[in-house]
Amino acid sequence: MSTAHKLDCEAAENDCRFIIQSENEQEAIELAKNHMKEGHGKDFTEEELRREHLQVV
Ligand SMILES: [Zn+2]
Repeated sequence: MSTAHKLDCEAAENDCRFIIQSENEQEAIELAKNHMKEGHGKDFTEEELRREHLQVV
């Protein structure tokens, strides 16, 4: 069974419905990083995203 890496932006930013889900962790992090920067003007490091926001489902 494969796992997916998921970031639910609503947990990090109120009122944002953006959800990223990918089987590729690196891809999920890249997408999350771009979204946080472009959508919220916030810079997260890959490590922060991986540690604090990425869930394995
Ligand atoms: Zn968002």
